[in-house]
Amino acid sequence: MKLSDLGEFGLIARIRERFPAPEGVTGIGDDCAILKPRYNSVDTLVSTDMLVEGTHFLLKDIPPYDLGWKSAAVNLSDIAAMGGEPRGTVLSLALPARTEVEWVDEFLRGYGDVSARFNTPLLGGDTTASPDRICINVTVLGEAPYATARKRADAKKGDLVCVTGTLGDSAAGLKAILEKKERDADVQALIAKHYRPVPRVAEGQQLRLNLGVHAMMDISDGIGSDLMHILEASEMNAEVDLSALPLSLALKHVCARFGWDPLELAVCGGEDYELLFTCTSQAEMLLTVPHFVIGRITDRTLAQPQISWRGATASFAGFDHFRRH
Ligand code: ADP
Ligand code: MG
Repeated sequence: MKLSDLGEFGLIARIRERFPAPEGVTGIGDDCAILKPRYNSVDTLVSTDMLVEGTHFLLKDIPPYDLGWKSAAVNLSDIAAMGGEPRGTVLSLALPARTEVEWVDEFLRGYGDVSARFNTPLLGGDTTASPDRICINVTVLGEAPYATARKRADAKKGDLVCVTGTLGDSAAGLKAILEKKERDADVQALIAKHYRPVPRVAEGQQLRLNLGVHAMMDISDGIGSDLMHILEASEMNAEVDLSALPLSLALKHVCARFGWDPLELAVCGGEDYELLFTCTSQAEMLLTVPHFVIGRITDRTLAQPQISWRGATASFAGFDHFRRH
């Protein structure tokens, strides 16, 4: 069997089977791993993400400042997804010798701006030559008070399903870049969301303080796929009201102009880096973090998790394919 048949999630499942988490560790399968402390009352959170030229970014399209920004931001987002506080990052770079020093400086400026904004120093890393493509690996360390980090497996029946911001903007920005659309203010705003996502670090920690907030994760692949991860881990189903999905004005304008389906981008498009969480309705009333209620957690009926999409238009019939995740 080829890797392409196994798929990313199939490969991760294979690794996970071989390396079960030892006692005191929440291992493979969430936004971060959680290390139970041996000597104090703070859990350590660890996550890592790799960005490969040609797979995650096109060198000719993305400004180096934005690539630096995004490399740091998507990692901090995984700490935010647990309700943690990021403490520092480690950066490893594989760069072809032909890379311009100015390019690297701009990359570091973007990386540094996110690091400063979220008070997360760069602690170290590794640098090596790459024969061809740029490869960037960031590892982030964070903390949360003992046993308070929110996992994907924590959703409870009857919970509301919520998101912290608008969906689909990043995917629309990417589509505009790839289709070389003219960059008016709306298109610019969507492209900025794609290149410079803002991790919901303060929001994640605020949500963690509310005991009625149960499961949490960040939206990297789109809610169609990411909510499925919560349902798999929590052994639940969900109903989602498509008419409740928060869509930005920029997204609506751009979709109307180019004939794109905003719901498809909001559900299937990734990289919004908003938080997706579930909470009791009492907890929801007390939330001070801006959020939108988009659905509800229901009992699992079959072995496989299911999302029931409500408020669907006819065009939405084709969205069955996210069940494959
Ligand atoms: P995210 O989108 O939140 O960054 P991923 O989908 O990349 O998460 O990964 C899902 C889970 O699988 C995480 O717990 C991650 O640490 C783990 N994982 C991914 N790749 C590997 C690998 N090569 N070895 C061990 N664990 C991995
Ligand atoms: Mg994540």
